[in-house]
Amino acid sequence: MLSPLGLSPSFGFGDRLGLATPGHIAAVRGTKFAPIFAQQSVRENTRTGRTPQQVMDDARRAVEAAGWDLPWGADADHLKTLEDLPPFIEAGYTFFTVDPGEHVDNGADTYSLDVLKQKFVDSNWDELSALYLNQNSEQVWGHFDSESLMRATVKYGKAIRHAAAMFQRLCQMTDGFDFEVSVDETDSPTTPLEYFFIVSELRRLGVRFTSLAPRFIGRFEKGVDYVGDLDTLDAELVKHAAVTAHFGTYKLSLHSGSDKFSVYPLIAKHWGERIHVKTAGTSYLEALRVLANHEPDLFLKIYSLGRERYEMDRRTYHVSAKLDMLPNTNDLPSALDDFHAREVLHVTFGSALAQFGVELKAALAKYETAYFEGLRIHFAKHLRLLEEQE
Ligand code: ZN
Repeated sequence: MLSPLGLSPSFGFGDRLGLATPGHIAAVRGTKFAPIFAQQSVRENTRTGRTPQQVMDDARRAVEAAGWDLPWGADADHLKTLEDLPPFIEAGYTFFTVDPGEHVDNGADTYSLDVLKQKFVDSNWDELSALYLNQNSEQVWGHFDSESLMRATVKYGKAIRHAAAMFQRLCQMTDGFDFEVSVDETDSPTTPLEYFFIVSELRRLGVRFTSLAPRFIGRFEKGVDYVGDLDTLDAELVKHAAVTAHFGTYKLSLHSGSDKFSVYPLIAKHWGERIHVKTAGTSYLEALRVLANHEPDLFLKIYSLGRERYEMDRRTYHVSAKLDMLPNTNDLPSALDDFHAREVLHVTFGSALAQFGVELKAALAKYETAYFEGLRIHFAKHLRLLEEQE
């Protein structure tokens, strides 16, 4: 049944085409993860031309057809403004992800002290310093001095207040929902100390959140493995996990979680059961793999459109693929294992659907067994690595 998932370990299966849920169900069945089968951001809905209601209906139809009778959720992802809320509430979403990233001041790490003090004027120094300075014991996540407290406040203060306003509006409009705060798409990483600050302040403002997505160090790009040093990330994840354990009331959330195979063992180790992982574009790439195998001409049209559209379409994403690094297409399915090709195809999905959506969906209907089996195998790999404990 559609319901909030609370603190259960959970996994988000974004599905841009509205056709992937049977494969997702086959992969998640029997694992410890509670699934989110409908998960779409405002940005994705704009690019796919789907409404929150359509996304919900597609997932629900597949859930009923498969006889899935355990809890599942629907995630209204990356909501940025109060105006974003109503269509998702009306469609019965159970999980609301608020992204106040536009209110994060990314310059706060490097402002001069004078600039910092000017920007701090709105905040209550007496209150903040009483709360965060002079904490007597050294914690894993570090400790504040006056300057770092001021920087954290300037960096995240407005964003925290915006998230709280979104939460309060939601409480007026509906009840019984999961609430996530995500700052994963900001320019600079969320240090463990900043993460501690965000959680403390959200709680102080009465925001009851189920999960929180910091921006971790290194690069979590779309549809490809982690880019960065795993040992450094490992050490950092220990500290984030210590903050989560300290409060004990919510889960950590990993966005852009598709295909981060090298990272899963680390988060399984450090986060344990307090885990939520989101994926989206990788299901679309599995659809393209079906084309590469069975309808190569259509795949090549989408690929060459992707090449044309990449520089434009990448602007709202954190990706680093280079067009001159793309593999040649003589050996087709393997292009879908290439870092550059995956990112180019991933971020140009809106352009591809606008031009070839009808043909793409027809091909997937024709080869649906191959699509569902591809998805099952692909996500079984994700979930297995996330379940294994060292
Ligand atoms: Zn995100």
